[in-house]
Amino acid sequence: MAKPLQIKEKIPVGILGVTGSVGQKFVQLLSNHPWFEIVVLAASHRSAGKPYGEVVNWIQNTPLPDSVARLTVRDTDSELQVSVLFSALDAKVAQETEQRFARQGKVVISNARNHRFHPQVPLLIPEVNPDHLAALEKQSFGGGKIVTNPNCSTTGMVMALKPLMDAFGIEKIHVVTMQALSGAGYPGVSSLDALDNVIPYISGEEEKMEREPKKLLGQWDGQQFTEAPLVISASCNRVPVLEGHLESVSVKLRQKATAEEIIEVWRNFRALPQEWNLPSAPKQPIHYFEDPKLPQPRLQRDLEKGMAVSVGRLRPCAILDYKFTVLSHNTIRGAAGGAILNAELMAAQGLI
Ligand code: NAP
Repeated sequence: MAKPLQIKEKIPVGILGVTGSVGQKFVQLLSNHPWFEIVVLAASHRSAGKPYGEVVNWIQNTPLPDSVARLTVRDTDSELQVSVLFSALDAKVAQETEQRFARQGKVVISNARNHRFHPQVPLLIPEVNPDHLAALEKQSFGGGKIVTNPNCSTTGMVMALKPLMDAFGIEKIHVVTMQALSGAGYPGVSSLDALDNVIPYISGEEEKMEREPKKLLGQWDGQQFTEAPLVISASCNRVPVLEGHLESVSVKLRQKATAEEIIEVWRNFRALPQEWNLPSAPKQPIHYFEDPKLPQPRLQRDLEKGMAVSVGRLRPCAILDYKFTVLSHNTIRGAAGGAILNAELMAAQGLI
């Protein structure tokens, strides 16, 4: 790929769904961003017309910046004077709203599931499939564009699988997740359901985990996406952790590999965001831990500002070849931070 563009002036951006769990993370991560400046905030008519500081129930661990708290929240049904929008909209409204803004010529970088399998929409992790952005040339939403990021539990797993796929090939994946409460949005699962408990069902999650990796690890051939021929079985559970999805993954590889070789490809894995030094890119995307008690959500989720993926406990699997544990921050790497990295990759290529 060509060299990245230098971003000399900040790009004005808006956030759709700004009051929710992911919307707040966008505010937190974009507040001091070197390339982007928040100028528009939007949510439902329930929040519109008032200063953000009055309507949001701010649950982040850093103070809400005054400059953002003072911005009046707009209704997503209104005209928004900005050409780049991050979307953290509820899936019930994301389809129509994101397409409407794209038809108006805006670039929409979305967390919602609605467009992930549109035949010309990239489902993007910059370390995994940056070449899929070429599909934007074929998009026909009008003058604008839509780019999506994967489901939060898919992201961590696929980051860990990508170097294995490149080095050894993968045939089959079995995964059991232990997913944080923040993944259910705000206010999310009620405390009486969540505390002292594990809920062995997350609506739609297993289907996403079984399908999204195939597009992410598949090909864009200039005309269409071809899915990677993977067999995937997922079981998803909600556990009483605030942030950070932990996953037990087993894989069947196409070629034989030793544990040392696998750990080496994880540790040496670097991709375009690292080469281009994008502002949100972790220096080392995958950290492997030798201590068999790691990774743990409370201890490793914030590694490299929540953008790195932690892996540990690599060992033989009696059914497939190897099994291991993956941890990633669901609202940063798996949502807002991942979408911001997508936008940085696009900005560095002159696509926004
Ligand atoms: P959330 O906390 O429920 O927030 C939803 C947001 O959508 C709120 O700002 C809400 O605004 C807005 N909204 C709801 N109905 C609306 C309407 N009719 N018109 C306009 N805006 C409306 O959800 P979340 O967890 O932040 O998730 C946001 C999106 O990201 C979802 O599509 C989710 O699937 C996806 N996602 C979430 C995660 C995660 O870890 N949480 C990870 C990856 C992807 P009001 O406050 O005004 O109602």
